[in-house]
Amino acid sequence: MTGHAVVIAGGGPTGMMLAGELTLTGTDVAIVEQRLGPELAGSRAGGLHARSIEVLDQRGIADRFVSQGTTYPVVHFATIQLDISDFPSRHPYTLGLWQKHIERILADWVSELGVPFYRGREVTGFEQDDTGIDVKLSDGRPLRAQYLVGCDGGRSLIRKAAGIEFPGWDPTIGSLIAEAETAEEPELGMRRDEKGIHGIGRLEDGKRVRIVVREDRVGQAGEPTLRDLSQALIAVWGTDFGVHSPTWISRFTDMTRQAASYRKGRVLLAGDAAHVHSPIGGQGLNTGMQDAVNLGWKLAQVVRQTSPDSLLDTYHAERHPVAARVLRTTMAGTALSRTDARTDALLGTMTELLSMDEPRKRFAGELSGLGIHYDLGEGHPLTGRRMPDLDLVTVSGPRRVFTLLHDARPVLLNLGEPGSLDITPWADRVRLVDADYAGRWELPVLGAVTAPAAVLIRPDGYVAWAGDSAQPGLPDALTTWFGPATAPEREDGLTADPD
Ligand SMILES: Cc1cc2nc3c(=O)[nH]c(=O)nc-3n(C[C@H](O)[C@H](O)[C@H](O)COP(=O)(O)OP(=O)(O)OC[C@H]3O[C@@H](n4cnc5c(N)ncnc54)[C@H](O)[C@@H]3O)c2cc1C
Repeated sequence: MTGHAVVIAGGGPTGMMLAGELTLTGTDVAIVEQRLGPELAGSRAGGLHARSIEVLDQRGIADRFVSQGTTYPVVHFATIQLDISDFPSRHPYTLGLWQKHIERILADWVSELGVPFYRGREVTGFEQDDTGIDVKLSDGRPLRAQYLVGCDGGRSLIRKAAGIEFPGWDPTIGSLIAEAETAEEPELGMRRDEKGIHGIGRLEDGKRVRIVVREDRVGQAGEPTLRDLSQALIAVWGTDFGVHSPTWISRFTDMTRQAASYRKGRVLLAGDAAHVHSPIGGQGLNTGMQDAVNLGWKLAQVVRQTSPDSLLDTYHAERHPVAARVLRTTMAGTALSRTDARTDALLGTMTELLSMDEPRKRFAGELSGLGIHYDLGEGHPLTGRRMPDLDLVTVSGPRRVFTLLHDARPVLLNLGEPGSLDITPWADRVRLVDADYAGRWELPVLGAVTAPAAVLIRPDGYVAWAGDSAQPGLPDALTTWFGPATAPEREDGLTADPD
């Protein structure tokens, strides 16, 4: 039977990001994807938020995406624009780039990394035992793995087969989304009426348009047809503009649900498999990619047995609350997108509130992902927050912090006296870098913070510990996040007895 340490069901953005992360750590991982090729029907998600771009920058691949998209210095809360150009990040913007391009670039990356893809077959089930998991594929060929990650989208078979509950809220609105040609010139732009918000935009090929139009009934069964699209257009614009030759027609709703647990034994969930919500605010793909970056290094360490299996529980503990906030914000955004007079009044009130600096920063921090704060306990304000991409001076010359994370390994940055920190028992896992940094420490949302003398950075770019050599927490943080200290090797090659 073919075996891999980790099998990922689903090669969408979440699955590919996770596979890339695991491969960087040297973990044997494979993706099973039901689609035959990397092409995606329809353009789907419209872009990447600032933190996702930073995460890609941490791996040295942000430019591949940024060079192909368009940057906008804002995020959206419902229809309210929040400026993020003053956020302390190298990427204080949203990148407009269709999901089909994002997936193509990710597919190239994982292919360069040599990730095996079992394409054109589905995961149909699995059985876990004490030592691993048998993954069943639609072609009858079984795969054995230590862990299975369901990155198989909102209708996740993995989630259902694992018996993980998916509580939440049924849809209240539904829209058709389509790419098609029109015989007549359509009315381009957004349209707000008593039915809701709709829009038509020209696609890159200049020939087709992308249409988003509200449907009268929610939760219609079956695949949408050209006739459904035509009727919905007529109901809103009074004409279907002679719509024809659709290349993609799909339906989306504001159904809002989240997996009760992101883990059951050897099965984990990430991306849409773990959370679904309205596409308002463009959060889904970003949340999934960042789930993957949170999970990848933890899974790698557990597979390598440098950390206990319980490290995987921190994945749920950190990422479930982030997506729960996303669910709340998208539900609030959906409510604000209603078009009655009272909702308009509420929208006006919210617009006023969000024009104030503190609320703007707080909400923009959440929507851009730059304000994410994992609860890792007391300590320096950096703890649990993203490490800023500082310009450092090291013995090997100037370095950006993010370049130190390219190989997805933890870094202890010593900004104090060179050589003042000794982490020999973790030296096989954590890279110690002596560096100087003279500038300000400024975090998104929080503002200026005091300069720490040392920072322990996890492979996902979040700070596990910050302080100075006089503070006692460093060995505990190293053990919690990167496993127990190993005894140094003796000169004869045997491991010294720590006692
Ligand atoms: C209209 C629309 C607009 C959106 N706009 C945005 C936006 O602007 N920003 C944003 O962040 N998000 C947006 N989203 C959401 C975004 O598209 C999803 O959140 C994102 O695709 C989730 O990625 P994923 O990899 O978790 O899941 P998916 O993209 O759904 O990928 C799952 C993969 O698993 C495969 N698969 C499924 N079942 C199996 C199986 N049993 N075996 C093997 N393979 C399987 C599928 O073929 C698929 O490739 C939008 C969504 C829609 C519909």
